[in-house]
Amino acid sequence: MQYPVEDTDSKVFDYVIIGGGTAGLVLANRLSDNPAVQVLVLEAGDERLDASSPLPQTDPNINIPGLMTELYGDEKYDWKFKTAPQPSLKNRTIAWPRGKVLGGSSAINFLMVSHASRADLDNWEKLGNPGWNFDTLQPYYRRSEAFNAPSTETAEELGTAIVDTSLHGNSGPVQTSFPKGQGPLDEAWSRTFKTLGLGPQADPRAGSTLGGYSLPKFMDKTAKRSYAAPAYYVPASRRANLKVLTGAFVKKIAFDTNTSPVTATGVWYYVDGNKHFVGVLREIILSAGTVKSPQILELSGIGNKTQLDKFGIEAIVENDGVGENLQASGDHPLVGFGYEALEGVPTREMIKQPGVLDWALQEYTQKGAGPLAGGATGTGFLSYSSVLPAEQKDSSKAQLTKLVDEYSNSTTGGLRKQLEVQKEVLLNDHEADIQYNFGASGANYAAGESTAAFFDHNDPGGYAGIMTVLTHAFSRGSIHIQSPDASTAPIIDPRYMSNPVDIEVLSSGLLFTQNISEAAPLSNLLKDNEAGDGKKAQPSFKVDGRLTKESAVRIVREAVSSSFHPVGTCAMLPREDGGVVDSSLRVYGTRNLRVVDASVFPLNVRGNIASLVYAVAERASDLIKSGQ
Ligand SMILES: Cc1cc2nc3c(=O)[nH]c(=O)nc-3n(C[C@H](O)[C@H](O)[C@H](O)COP(=O)(O)OP(=O)(O)OC[C@H]3O[C@@H](n4cnc5c(N)ncnc54)[C@H](O)[C@@H]3O)c2cc1C
Repeated sequence: MQYPVEDTDSKVFDYVIIGGGTAGLVLANRLSDNPAVQVLVLEAGDERLDASSPLPQTDPNINIPGLMTELYGDEKYDWKFKTAPQPSLKNRTIAWPRGKVLGGSSAINFLMVSHASRADLDNWEKLGNPGWNFDTLQPYYRRSEAFNAPSTETAEELGTAIVDTSLHGNSGPVQTSFPKGQGPLDEAWSRTFKTLGLGPQADPRAGSTLGGYSLPKFMDKTAKRSYAAPAYYVPASRRANLKVLTGAFVKKIAFDTNTSPVTATGVWYYVDGNKHFVGVLREIILSAGTVKSPQILELSGIGNKTQLDKFGIEAIVENDGVGENLQASGDHPLVGFGYEALEGVPTREMIKQPGVLDWALQEYTQKGAGPLAGGATGTGFLSYSSVLPAEQKDSSKAQLTKLVDEYSNSTTGGLRKQLEVQKEVLLNDHEADIQYNFGASGANYAAGESTAAFFDHNDPGGYAGIMTVLTHAFSRGSIHIQSPDASTAPIIDPRYMSNPVDIEVLSSGLLFTQNISEAAPLSNLLKDNEAGDGKKAQPSFKVDGRLTKESAVRIVREAVSSSFHPVGTCAMLPREDGGVVDSSLRVYGTRNLRVVDASVFPLNVRGNIASLVYAVAERASDLIKSGQ
């Protein structure tokens, strides 16, 4: 629904939300439930659903989970960012898709639902953010979710007995469901972890459990993607006091500098190349995501003065934290690896065979099942210690502690405080340092360069792919403008793997995939290697026989890609610790500008973060309404 742009020129809104993405649409819905409040959302992308229909059907690439790779690199959906060349990754540049569509990245993500641990969220409070902890966020996770419990058949297939429905939301806007009919590899995953003695003891939502299990997806019972636009916008779209303007590209925020702190007065934006201004009465909420929120702050004069001076931008509020603390390394760098499946075991590669795609479409449309209905249902969270061989545990942990201490001692201030809590997580055998994502598909050695080709490869045969993900990286990067022109993408420099701790943890996790592949029942579905001393690796990873520590390190450097969870560039922290927003998410030095999106996460958490973005935005809406 395109709101006429002319109408904003003559109007003043109580709230202007920049970015109709995951967080922005939560706020649009919650703030506009008071009819006396006028809310405007400015979203650069298009709306790709039919808001007049109760069941939005218009875009199969978004709606059908198995078509998600069609979304990446296509400007109808994706900002198509790329990182700067990464020295520790052999100077590779890594693709960073971000949703440019109503619903933002929730419309293009991999749909995996997971949950931060208790320690992860309690650490936010520990770093100086009163009120932000595991217990205060639980009600908001639940408020955003409508969990569809699996049928007896699906529960049996995926081994979901640990699910505790009381920990899930049951009447929120975003639907979550387990995929049906995923095939023998997905069915083997959680059982294999039991064999390894690494099955979770409780629903990981309880906040402390480790182990391998099957996770739900952001989709409804019919396996249609559930994302911020249908979940939060559609139910509110007929409210007279909510206007959503799509195709509206925000350039900067205007301030009255005669007040102290400064007052945000409105937003400059473009529609079809024409410049517009809209005024605000109460607050501007910046929800443009981890890449664009710091860019918009810098373009508006909030940031490091030297950085702003370079581009002739007047510094309205000096803050060196803007665009820093990028935990793109904490974005959960990911490395895929494939083990060859036995002939006849169904894998994604078969979709290229005649008739299989038609069959898959039929399964999807008629039963909401099959390869297009899910993919990558297996996950697992393990500590660094648990992936080490027994005889190396003590020495490797001691070595790693030394590396962490050396790095930590070379830092000061806020970063040092973060590293101290990260060290506690790393050395705690009950916290995750590694996540595994599993699916019936080989991996692309060059996945980092193209997300559209994430699962594409030219190796013959079918594969079981295990993605090893670093949950709490020690490397830090930055995102800064490289031009005063808003349409020039900022420089994204995650500095992936610049910290040796990250290479050690990720390569150890990758090495452990071998143990997973050799445990039953997964091992019964995979081919042996030629020497008969392990499972057969996907040829493009160039592993001769078994993985070694050396080959794992080489693969990390050559094949790491993003798992697309960057956070931290407008961090919620005390100002002296590099914070950009306070614990009410208000930008320091401003009276009425907040940031609400993944960029405010002060430290990354384990797992997939969209559920936490929803929860943070839900909590933010209560803070805003109560005037905090
Ligand atoms: C490819 C991919 C796979 C992922 N997989 C998973 C997963 O499986 N599970 C999971 O939990 N998480 C996943 N994530 C992460 C998760 O989806 C994101 O962290 C989350 O959606 C981010 O929400 P946000 O509100 O911070 O930003 P976004 O949802 O990206 O919203 C930002 C919005 O602001 C708009 N915007 C930006 N700049 C401007 C401007 N100048 N003017 C106007 N509008 C603007 C954008 O178009 C966008 O709509 C994935 C992300 C990606 C990209």
